[in-house]
Amino acid sequence: MSINIKSPEVEIREARLGSITGFYGNASELCNKSKEGRLCDRKHSFSQCLGCSSGNALCQLVMIQDAVVINHAPLGCSADFSDFNFTNRVGQGKRNIPFRNARLLSTNLTEKDTIYGGGEKLKNTIKEAYDRFKPNAIFITTSCASGIIGDDVDTIAEEAEEQLKIPVVYIPCEGFKSKIWTTGFDAAYHGIVRKIVKAPTKKRKDMINVINFWGSDIFTDLFGRIGLKPNYIIPFSTIAQLQKMSEAAATVQICPTLGTYLAASLEQEYGVPEVKAPPAYGIQGTDKWFRELGKITGKEKEVEELIKSEKERIYPELEKLREKLKGKRAYITAGAAHGHSLISLLRDLGMEVVGASIFHHDPCYDNRSQEGKSLDHAVETYGDINHFSICNKQAYELVNSLNKLKPDIFVARHGGMSIWGAKLGIPTFLMGDEQFGLGYQGLLNYGNKVLDVLETPEFVKNIAAHSKLVYTDWWLNQRPDTFLGGK
Ligand code: SF4
Repeated sequence: MSINIKSPEVEIREARLGSITGFYGNASELCNKSKEGRLCDRKHSFSQCLGCSSGNALCQLVMIQDAVVINHAPLGCSADFSDFNFTNRVGQGKRNIPFRNARLLSTNLTEKDTIYGGGEKLKNTIKEAYDRFKPNAIFITTSCASGIIGDDVDTIAEEAEEQLKIPVVYIPCEGFKSKIWTTGFDAAYHGIVRKIVKAPTKKRKDMINVINFWGSDIFTDLFGRIGLKPNYIIPFSTIAQLQKMSEAAATVQICPTLGTYLAASLEQEYGVPEVKAPPAYGIQGTDKWFRELGKITGKEKEVEELIKSEKERIYPELEKLREKLKGKRAYITAGAAHGHSLISLLRDLGMEVVGASIFHHDPCYDNRSQEGKSLDHAVETYGDINHFSICNKQAYELVNSLNKLKPDIFVARHGGMSIWGAKLGIPTFLMGDEQFGLGYQGLLNYGNKVLDVLETPEFVKNIAAHSKLVYTDWWLNQRPDTFLGGK
């Protein structure tokens, strides 16, 4: 396994997992090439926008309740600070946590600092962060500018830690390092496992680490029914909670794209077993996920009872939803594994998934297990998906595919992408809470929501009637992969 916890830097996904950002074809072809080690990245010769690792690292770290995050960067890299504050507050509302602004500072590197170095500014900002917030830990995320000028952030962090007697953690996540911005999740988790998590003093048989974003709390009830308790990480945890992650009986994750590195690191470093199963979306994935958790925790009997009672509860309504949704054509856009989970979910509702724009592809996860591979699970269980595009948020490719395929519904995970469905007059469903679709209840939640959206198309029809598409007919008549390099 390629996890080296001694190094301050995480190896980027392209090098560690062989991940790619360019592909167009069938999902089965992508799975087969991944298995056979024949996956090549088709490079985009034109790119409209990209995400940044730094943003993905920040979005996790900023939700630790008693920490401060310093972005060692020019102010432009902080343009998304307000988004983090917003998601922080949305999540706090969902979890009934008192509202509080995100604790985020920027060192505000200027042109002069890129010549003379930004070390002094960083030292001053660490002092300011400590004096202002008295945090239990400080995380320092880096940027293209601080990376290029070569500020010795690691040494400055070590010295501050010595002085302040709290962890001061260097998180190298410069945007230029990787085209796959989920590398930022890995960088944040690497820093946490390296500097925050402590060796277990005891093992807690009922505590399950749940690597998740900031969705609703559904696991207190679900796990409670099988005698287990969720330990939600990273959002809304405290430093003391993170220190004890090593004591858990197992680690589950909402999405392997998010948690692959952390789950594998906890297993490698502290022997916390990772539940290696497809994500718990759709009946079969949920069955496998819970059964694997039951096997690891010795709760097989309780899990079988939970599965039986949940299925008895949902099946009457599920059958009615399947009847109504049968044959409806959906197109999906989402980050990698959550997109695969949505495919399973919609197929289980009787819908056809005509295509997908997924932001990147990991041919394997850090645990190197076949069991948890989310796209393989979706294809093997529900059949192939044509028009499967690995498209790192390139709107022009998405619009091209949507315009050609004209699905009945467009399901998006990210706000910036959903607008394109509406502009084309396609009923569009945006869902940011990943727990909404999880488990047996998730099928009912999604099925009812999709029905609502299909039954009220006037909104998007009006938007389409009054908006001008920026793309020309020339582009809409090309193949979606026109700007992807050789196969
Ligand atoms: S770190 Fe680099 S890629 Fe990220 S926002 Fe700053 S300049 Fe842009």
